Amino acid sequence: MTLKPKPKKSSRKKASPSLRFPKGMRPFISDEVYHLLAEEYGPAPWAPRHDGVSELVACILSQHTSDLNSEKAFETLVRRYPTWQAVIDAPTPEVVDTIRNGGLAQQKGPRIQEVLHRVLDLRGEFDLDFLKRLPLDEAKAWLKQLPGVGPKTAAIVLCFAMGMPAMPVDTHIYRVSRRLGLIGPKVTADQAHDLLEPSVSPAQVFPFHVYLINHGRRVCKMPKPLCGRCVLAHRCPSRLEEPAIG
Ligand code: SF4
Repeated sequence: MTLKPKPKKSSRKKASPSLRFPKGMRPFISDEVYHLLAEEYGPAPWAPRHDGVSELVACILSQHTSDLNSEKAFETLVRRYPTWQAVIDAPTPEVVDTIRNGGLAQQKGPRIQEVLHRVLDLRGEFDLDFLKRLPLDEAKAWLKQLPGVGPKTAAIVLCFAMGMPAMPVDTHIYRVSRRLGLIGPKVTADQAHDLLEPSVSPAQVFPFHVYLINHGRRVCKMPKPLCGRCVLAHRCPSRLEEPAIG
């Protein structure tokens, strides 16, 4: 008796149903998404919010809390201490008390002092403008050597304070990009930074960041996206097969 060979399993894994494009449909590329969102949301000019170290501290304060609370905590901190050196020199419980309205103060207070210490050790000052003169990858690597600084914080500092083409990926950008299939279903938020950033031109990185956040907040929401109002719906795999993915 001859046994029929078992059919070989394909080594290619199936895409998640929500991210599988129907036959004949051409997936979006980031550049097309950019232009459609630019038409929808208008110009998004860049303007610095803070200098580099202030952005770094503001970013630590923003972790796991609302924008409103973290902004209040930042204001209280800079009002109490006239210089970053004064923050380093202050007793840690005092710093913790100062930023208490920003949440997780017991962790954020020592972290801020630790980061400021490290910046001073490495640079001898609190000026991070030298990062603007480095290639983007080197500037990111420099920031990521600081305690607790990951891809998102590094990208925020480089994007918002330095005007460099770094793409911070927050929860809205991560969700919208996955629903659109710009990144694969298994790509982590940390990995998404390096994938989304080069998918548009350097000049488009900051506006793309703003557009994806706006779109995530207003239309491609959690838990249920408003696909009927979406300018990307005609080619979005999540719209066509499973509009309400989480
Ligand atoms: S069609 Fe729906 S799921 Fe797709 S991007 Fe638009 S709102 Fe999000």
